[in-house]
Amino acid sequence: MPESPKQENLTANLVFRNMARYTGPVCRLCRRDGMKLFLKGNRCDTPKCAFERREAPPGQHVGRRSKPTDYGIHLREKQKVKHCYGVLERQFRRYFSHAEKSKGNTGDTLMSLLERRLDNIVHRLGFGLSRNQARQMICHGHITINGHRVNVPSYEVRVGDVIRVKNRAKSLDMIRASKAEVSRDIPDFLSVAETDIPEGVMGRLPGAEDVSLPVRTQLIVELCSR
Ligand code: SF4
Repeated sequence: MPESPKQENLTANLVFRNMARYTGPVCRLCRRDGMKLFLKGNRCDTPKCAFERREAPPGQHVGRRSKPTDYGIHLREKQKVKHCYGVLERQFRRYFSHAEKSKGNTGDTLMSLLERRLDNIVHRLGFGLSRNQARQMICHGHITINGHRVNVPSYEVRVGDVIRVKNRAKSLDMIRASKAEVSRDIPDFLSVAETDIPEGVMGRLPGAEDVSLPVRTQLIVELCSR
């Protein structure tokens, strides 16, 4: 469905250039959030996964922690989403504010916006082992949209956009290596063409059922609306 000029304007505002990103250790994020967030590619499916080996939250005084507060429970849901999609607080707030202004369920719209990020789409198409790797591939110019190189990981993919790997040996080798290491189910809203040069198309907007992360969006909406 074509977007109205107002929606297009909002969409354009959600392309964040040179946004900061988290660069610290990622496995402790999984342990902190109490679930596997799959931030390290194929290592996450092996016994080397830090969460498999030690589920307890990081830190010295873990056993002494009291029951989480109501605020703590709400905050954890928000942090899970931020960690999974690799966005920091300011960027997340902008997604939330866009979702609030849009029609429909705010929580579902928020997740749909995050799912439409180019780094997420590249990862879910199986071109990158993790969202971080997908992000790096985009920044290094390995991905094109409708034939144009896009090097902004937060680019918001639209219905009908063709996401293609650049036709050069280095790019293709990288994608083939990713595909060989991990076989991932492609979500329904995306389709992959089995051609010499890997490409995928977003057939429809992602809905709540397409989100792979088990998250209670209602808690995030309650927290961010306070
Ligand atoms: Fe999380 Fe992956 Fe590290 Fe396991 S290996 S703790 S799933 S990032």
